[in-house]
Amino acid sequence: MKSLAVSSNWRAPRQKTIPSSDQECIKLGRGSDDYYRCYIRYFVNTCYHPAGTCKMGNFATDPKAVVDNELKVRGIKSLRVIDASIMPNTVSANINAATLMIGEKGADLIKETYAKSTV
Ligand SMILES: Cc1cc2nc3c(=O)[nH]c(=O)nc-3n(C[C@H](O)[C@H](O)[C@H](O)COP(=O)(O)OP(=O)(O)OC[C@H]3O[C@@H](n4cnc5c(N)ncnc54)[C@H](O)[C@@H]3O)c2cc1C
Repeated sequence: MKSLAVSSNWRAPRQKTIPSSDQECIKLGRGSDDYYRCYIRYFVNTCYHPAGTCKMGNFATDPKAVVDNELKVRGIKSLRVIDASIMPNTVSANINAATLMIGEKGADLIKETYAKSTV
C-alpha cells in the first residue's frame, strides 16, 4: 500500500491518501500493514454497488461457489440467483451494465429450460 501511494501513476492526477481520523488505526503506526488492515475494516464500503456475495463457480473445484454456470443454486432444485451477487469478481466499473446482462442471460436460461420441459 505504501509503495502504491508513492508511485508515479498514483500521484499523477493529484491523488493522495486520505489520512485516517480513527485513533484506533493511528495507534498501530501510520503506514504499517496493521494500520492498513485496521483502516480497511473501518472505511471500506460498497459505494452502493454490492456484488459477488453469491458467486458463480465450478462446484467441483470451488467450495465457495453458490451458483453454477446456469445460475442454479448448489443443492437446491429449481432455484436460480440472477443478479449482481453472482459475479465471481467485480467488474472495474459501475456494475449496472454487467448486472443487466446477467439478467438477460438468466432469462434466456429459464426460457431454454421451459422450452425443453414437457409442461
Ligand atoms: C444510489 C445508487 C446509485 C447507483 N448508480 C449506478 C450507476 O450510476 N451506474 C451503475 O452502473 N450502477 C449504479 N448502481 C448500481 C446498480 O443499481 C446495481 O448494480 C443493480 O441495481 C444491482 O442489481 P441487482 O439485481 O443485483 O439488485 P437490485 O437492483 O437491488 O434488485 C434486487 C431486487 O430484489 C428485491 N428483493 C430483495 N429482497 C427480496 C425478497 N426477500 N423477496 C423478494 N424480492 C426481494 C428488491 O426489492 C429488488 O427489486 C447504483 C446503485 C445505487 C444504490
